[in-house]
Amino acid sequence: MKRSVLIVGRPNVGKSTLFNRLTRSRRALTHDMPGMTRDLIRGIVEDDEITFELVDSGGLEYGDDPLSAFAGEIRQQAEAAIEDADLILLVVDGREGVTAADEEIAQHLRGVAERVIVIVNKTDTKAGELGMHEFHSLGFERVLGVSAEHGTGIDDLLETIAESLPDADGAGAGVDDQAGPIRLAIIGRPNVGKSSLLNRLLGEERSIVSEISGTTRDSVDTLIERDGKLYEIVDTAGIRRKGKTTEAAEKLSIISARKAIDACDIALVVLDGTEGATSQDATVAGYAQDAGKAAIILVNKWDAVERSEELAKKTEEEIRRIMKFLWFAPIELISARTGRRVDKIFGVVDLVAASYRARFTTSRVNDILERAVQRHMPPAISRGRARRFYYGTQVKDSPPTFALFSNTSEPIHFSYRRYLENTFREELGLFGTPVRLVIRSRKGFEGGERRGRGGCEVE
Ligand code: GDP
Ligand code: GDP
Repeated sequence: MKRSVLIVGRPNVGKSTLFNRLTRSRRALTHDMPGMTRDLIRGIVEDDEITFELVDSGGLEYGDDPLSAFAGEIRQQAEAAIEDADLILLVVDGREGVTAADEEIAQHLRGVAERVIVIVNKTDTKAGELGMHEFHSLGFERVLGVSAEHGTGIDDLLETIAESLPDADGAGAGVDDQAGPIRLAIIGRPNVGKSSLLNRLLGEERSIVSEISGTTRDSVDTLIERDGKLYEIVDTAGIRRKGKTTEAAEKLSIISARKAIDACDIALVVLDGTEGATSQDATVAGYAQDAGKAAIILVNKWDAVERSEELAKKTEEEIRRIMKFLWFAPIELISARTGRRVDKIFGVVDLVAASYRARFTTSRVNDILERAVQRHMPPAISRGRARRFYYGTQVKDSPPTFALFSNTSEPIHFSYRRYLENTFREELGLFGTPVRLVIRSRKGFEGGERRGRGGCEVE
């Protein structure tokens, strides 16, 4: 499936500079498409993550005059190009701020707003940097600052494009119901009951099982359908394969756990309830944390313990102590042998997957950030200066990742970061997934006061 990204914008904002930057720096082939009223310039962008076609509408001439802008054939061609594009980069000039021509084009793109990213160019200049935020007023959720000439912000842009484009197989990135099966990895040290759990999950009524070749050469993934939904259990071969000696089994379990974790959305971390949480369990679970995956902790063999409220509570406390880093992961007490509460796992998986893949609007993220900062001021940064946050936006899902634009790139104090993470988690109703915050500095703001064009409040 061809994926194409269209560049639009009024003259002189830097469209062709951006086009050249994206294509040339990625060794692209450019050629003109003959036979068009005005030539669309096409190129291929090849990045580590994705490949897509980039189309420069340079010749489409939206112009400052709305009456002539979309006249006749040119208008039709513009329409067709917009229709064809998977993603539209609306390039604007950060130095000049929002102009009538920008608004005109924005108005025209209103109907396809979810496919539009506003690219504020020329942020290498002081005025460009300062003007960036007012472009939110164009009404699109995503606004990114770049300097096409100097190459800053281009990596972020490519990352955002990669996130936004549909996958090669046609599934939409970041869109819940199109994101394909929920991928689960069953991990844990030997003998906790992983293969018993796998068999139990596969043996569930209503589940249709098929084996498909896995992500790595010797792995086998298993597809389950349940209540009309698809789940993929990754590297089921790794679960079944057993080492001869305990030591070999340990090693093998770690290798296959890592492979499986890389390929999954949610790690099902299995523990042996008769033994409680051990440091070895923590090691295996730590990989899930490192990889930024969602996690559910399953305490197995709950049939073999003297079940009581107290024991359940004690076990949970122990897990929370030994696996502090997975504090957000729900805990379920199950028995693969009797099937106790195994059925319930799918419900928890659905909730966690929805959180892991969720996307939120910039206005919602901003509101939460603003209120969080009002409730608790961030700790001062170096030389006693105040830290400021200008705005926040979700840059990625799986797991939800929020970029917070600040007047400094200094890391946030651990406890304040935890506070912000928790606030996002609570207010967005996120469950079982890690939440990532990345701090982006906006150098133009360094030193505090905003100068330049008036009328636009940034804080
Ligand atoms: P287009 O006609 O809208 O595609 O714009 P161009 O790519 O031809 O650029 C218009 C002008 O803006 C040229 O003089 C570029 O050198 C300049 N320009 C483009 N990108 C940047 C940038 O990132 N920073 C600065 N300061 N100037 C830029
Ligand atoms: P794996 O090495 O993690 O795949 O563990 P297995 O599934 O092979 O199970 C290890 C041992 O634990 C076997 O003897 C199983 O019968 C036993 N076992 C697995 N699940 C349960 C359970 O829910 N309850 C009890 N009592 N034993 C279990």
